Amino acid sequence: MSKKGIAILGATGSIGTQALDVVRAFPNDFEAIVLTCGSNAELLIKQALEFKPKAVVLTDTTQLATVKEALKRQDTAVLCGEEGLVEVVQYEEVKVVLNAIVGSAGLKPTVKAIECRKDIALANKETLVVAGELIMDLVQQYGVSMLPVDSEHSAIFQCLVGEAHNPIEKIYVTASGGPFRGKKTGELLQVTKAEALKHPNWAMGAKITIDSASLMNKGLEVIEAKWLFNLSIDQVDVIVHPQSIVHSLVQFKDGSMKAQMGVPDMKLPIQYALTYPARFENSFERFNFMDYPTLNFEKPDMDTFRNLALAYDALRAGGNKCCVLNAANEVVVDAFLKDKIGFLQMSDVIEATLNKMEFIAHPTLDDYLETDRVTRLITSEIIKD
Ligand code: NAD
Ligand code: MG
Repeated sequence: MSKKGIAILGATGSIGTQALDVVRAFPNDFEAIVLTCGSNAELLIKQALEFKPKAVVLTDTTQLATVKEALKRQDTAVLCGEEGLVEVVQYEEVKVVLNAIVGSAGLKPTVKAIECRKDIALANKETLVVAGELIMDLVQQYGVSMLPVDSEHSAIFQCLVGEAHNPIEKIYVTASGGPFRGKKTGELLQVTKAEALKHPNWAMGAKITIDSASLMNKGLEVIEAKWLFNLSIDQVDVIVHPQSIVHSLVQFKDGSMKAQMGVPDMKLPIQYALTYPARFENSFERFNFMDYPTLNFEKPDMDTFRNLALAYDALRAGGNKCCVLNAANEVVVDAFLKDKIGFLQMSDVIEATLNKMEFIAHPTLDDYLETDRVTRLITSEIIKD
């Protein structure tokens, strides 16, 4: 049997490196054809020397010469920029594009990959937040598979196996609640980025870790779920579950609920996206009931964590609103990580941006890209004021 060729976009990140762990665990089944990164040239070189891909792409070009020099003895093309990303997803050897880029920078490569009839293993939730309707239309049009990597969406996807003709009544997307669960607005005024970066259950990239602390990650996931599973907004509910063992639940029309469970480890959803519909035996950690004698569930506090409410509002408004929400969020998270604004100010700035941006009811891809660009400028101006 031939190996499944994979392009890993964002190979040097938290998801990307764990995806390479999965490739390493199944050398007879998967082959890394393409590896890409933003700026971590050192790790990209290391990965390329080990996996010998057909090509690597460096989005930040400052270290292009270093990468070329390091890889000159092997048959690996070295490309750069967004053009490089869009080129490599087209390679014939690539069967599935695992998009683990952070932020809306993942949108264009996803679109190109779908147009080239590649299956998509999607970690880059921002792709669906920005342009969910357009993306899912393209998925239909080109007949490709959209395989979720996000743990909650993988859980829902797994619960739906064998249920193609059974309509969903509701889904429950679980949320850990992050490091500030239970805190009230007054207690969040002074929280530091070091505190926000300490996630109780998951080790992830900086942006998604801040999103988890502010509940924006759950807001983005509600939007992602709506488009992935073709649901109405009222069918998507969030339930806080601090242990992160139940990764999400589906409730069917007869009231029966299915949940997918396991220890919090992204390697499982990554592996499932690559092996679907099969399940491959692995040696990842197993769940032990005695380690978790109690599992808790509680309502999310949307008054304190306003980002979740802002995300529901943006989704209800439709058009380019979720694109604005996402771009504004990327800018405020960056500003928070650079100590330019406080934790609670993030929601204020996002809301102010949403109120300022022009509404486009039926955006094209160019409208989304332009909305993303203009939003970033407006959010940056609001932060400066
Ligand atoms: P990360 O910051 O650890 O890695 C991001 C990767 O993208 C790196 O390889 C980086 O070099 C690359 N990159 C950054 N900016 C880029 C740009 N402008 N253009 C091209 N490449 C760029 O992030 P992560 O935690 O691995 O998350 C990646 C995506 O997966 C995000 O969308 C995140 O929401 C999603 N996700 C992550 C986890 C997790 O456990 N880390 C879980 C679920 C979903
Ligand atoms: Mg998730």
